[in-house]
Amino acid sequence: MRKAWLPIAAGLLAAVLIGCAAETTTGTTAAPTGVPESPTQSSSGQSAAPTETPTLAPTDAPTAVPTEIPTETPTATPAPTATPAPTATPAPTATPAPTATPVPTATPVPVVLAVADAIIGDPAYLIGDGNVGSSAKNGWIYSCSLEFMSGGGNTTRTWIVGDFWYPARKLASLGEVEWPSAQVSFKISNGRRVISGNGLPVGHTTGTYPLASSDPAYLIDPFPFEISEQVLEISLPLNPTLAATPECLNSGTIGYALTGAQVFNALDGLGRDAAAWEVLDLCGGHPEERGKYHYHTAAACQTAAHTLGHTLTAYALDGFGLFGLYDSQGQELTNADLDECHGHTHDIVWDGAEINSYHYHLTNAYPYTLGCYRGSEVVEQMSGMGGGMMGEGGGMMGPGGQMGPPR
Ligand SMILES: [Zn+2]
Ligand SMILES: [Zn+2]
Repeated sequence: MRKAWLPIAAGLLAAVLIGCAAETTTGTTAAPTGVPESPTQSSSGQSAAPTETPTLAPTDAPTAVPTEIPTETPTATPAPTATPAPTATPAPTATPAPTATPVPTATPVPVVLAVADAIIGDPAYLIGDGNVGSSAKNGWIYSCSLEFMSGGGNTTRTWIVGDFWYPARKLASLGEVEWPSAQVSFKISNGRRVISGNGLPVGHTTGTYPLASSDPAYLIDPFPFEISEQVLEISLPLNPTLAATPECLNSGTIGYALTGAQVFNALDGLGRDAAAWEVLDLCGGHPEERGKYHYHTAAACQTAAHTLGHTLTAYALDGFGLFGLYDSQGQELTNADLDECHGHTHDIVWDGAEINSYHYHLTNAYPYTLGCYRGSEVVEQMSGMGGGMMGEGGGMMGPGGQMGPPR
């Protein structure tokens, strides 16, 4: 039933190419098979055995290198058959795109998947916990607030071993709920980019929320929130300009994906690496306390994020684009390719024209989306009640708020 084969397969193809070296040279003592199984979890019959159930990997990992250092991966050219999509036109004036981006995506390589699973194991990433501060720094999050909730309780995560987390081992919440009423539109109006929609994901399903107590994920994180419609009416700079200095990231929404889901920064309500700690659904998203369905990463069902070409996935609140995991050559980008805000400048396709512009990129490693804002005008949300800058866990309780310690 798991539908995460496609990005996993692409990731593991790369893993085949570079995984061995990465596994053996990083000195990681965490053997893939050494995952301490949670007693409660195995009793549910949903053991996250590393070699058998590639449950959803919200951020599947073409680079098997569990570090964020400039380990450019010369051999990481994903699928040789994949054609970079040079015309990654985001179609800004396009109306809701139920069939989001029909661009070629990472080619599934099931054969390699089996080999990779059996011999190499799966990719791991350093948990980003603690890489957050009050100034801009590459690979970190420059956060407007360093006050996070504290909590206590269940910290069992079978996919976390030592300082690393293993996306392919991660337990996903159950359910494949369809949202036929989902809608989003991106229009240019009066020199602004206007985003309208109801916040529900267009083009993919979600998990069942709130989590059923019978969901194995519930045992790990009894996530109490449900998905609800939002009122999105956002006006962003159409052609943003760079600010003199970077600006800090708010918690909560930092951008809007082309699917209509919201993009959150990498932190959960406790200030931890959300992708590493939080239980997400099969598509790589989940709701927060006000029902906003959101991603923290290159979510599995966010097709544009995994397209082997320079592809727009979202607009940040400063109007700059958030592009996918790959450059126009199909090479996966890492933090080393990007600045402290997780972006860079080169010629891009923007509203159908080629311009030279700053923009952000998704990466498979923390901080996944943005590290800070580079734009001169960061738009505050005007959506919904209390829509402002309160983030995930900004209220009385957040995801994981009643579970798990600060780190
Ligand atoms: Zn979240
Ligand atoms: Zn780029």
